[in-house]
Amino acid sequence: MADAIEPARAKTAIPRNPGRHDLGMSATLLFPNREIVEKYYVPLVYTACRTCYSELEPQEIFRRAVEGEVNPAAMQRLISNVIESGHGSTIEHIVFTFAISGVSRTLSHQLVRHRAGVAFDQQSQRYVKFKGAAAMLPGTIADGDPALRERYEAQVDGALGLYGELLEAGVPGEDARFVFPNATRTNLVMTTNLRALIHMSGLRLCTMAQWEIRRLFQLVRHEVFTVSPFLGSFLAPKCVPLGYCDEFNNRDGHCPIRPHKDAVLGAWAEKHAAAKAAGRDLPAT
Ligand SMILES: Cc1cc2nc3c(=O)[nH]c(=O)nc-3n(C[C@H](O)[C@H](O)[C@H](O)COP(=O)(O)OP(=O)(O)OC[C@H]3O[C@@H](n4cnc5c(N)ncnc54)[C@H](O)[C@@H]3O)c2cc1C
Repeated sequence: MADAIEPARAKTAIPRNPGRHDLGMSATLLFPNREIVEKYYVPLVYTACRTCYSELEPQEIFRRAVEGEVNPAAMQRLISNVIESGHGSTIEHIVFTFAISGVSRTLSHQLVRHRAGVAFDQQSQRYVKFKGAAAMLPGTIADGDPALRERYEAQVDGALGLYGELLEAGVPGEDARFVFPNATRTNLVMTTNLRALIHMSGLRLCTMAQWEIRRLFQLVRHEVFTVSPFLGSFLAPKCVPLGYCDEFNNRDGHCPIRPHKDAVLGAWAEKHAAAKAAGRDLPAT
């Protein structure tokens, strides 16, 4: 029997931008402010980059950069080149601290999976007695079947209500919290160096990322843009600097931000075959 032909996967639209919904969460850049970024951050990264190629001592490079003796455009050019070349240690010297509030535990569980170059502190469910615990309502449930939405809300409210009753009955918070749903909101402080922030943004701004964490990184990017459009410009879905999409689930090309790598390699193979047929060889690099 001939192999069954797998039906072509229907092209779907690019996932809806979660930014259109107010999710009741926020991300605020606590440190640094615009003045510090403008005065010190670009000079710091520039000093790290320049030290590699200069006979000058880093303190002199830094002094010149801070005191306006180096053309700002030249500093930015060097930094862009170094970042694009993947020399990431140079951007580990600057950090950003965010207050993140009102996100679900579903999100926070994903966020704290990032390990390198990032620190978190999160509201404790052992020590905080949640008198007014709140929960996230996903857009698909909010805008979906009203009867299902009602049941969802009753279920979540029921769990939060039971939590309160358990506390009143003397059950410690660390045990009562076992009834909390994934939707329960939480607060964190996150400090990350720029290298880790670019990496996390690359994964979490991707349309394959879960909508809530994608929205969080849109807010994070907005905050960095506010203090530095130059540094903020490096926060993008990973396909943007790569030039192609490497997500397995986008082989059908439903997300159009960049072509999938299979399409890029296919185009290369075709070009290579055509060149060979014409008696030419494409250069290997
Ligand atoms: C769309 C999406 C879907 C996901 N689905 C799932 C899922 O279904 N199940 C699941 O469990 N997780 C899932 N994850 C989480 C994912 O597997 C990672 O744990 C998470 O994104 C953290 O990223 P990272 O590993 O790059 O870690 P980071 O800490 O951000 O690390 C940054 C980089 O440092 C390097 N690095 C860090 N630690 C080490 C180490 N110990 N050894 C060597 N190199 C290291 C790596 O190059 C790494 O990429 C998903 C993530 C995304 C974005």
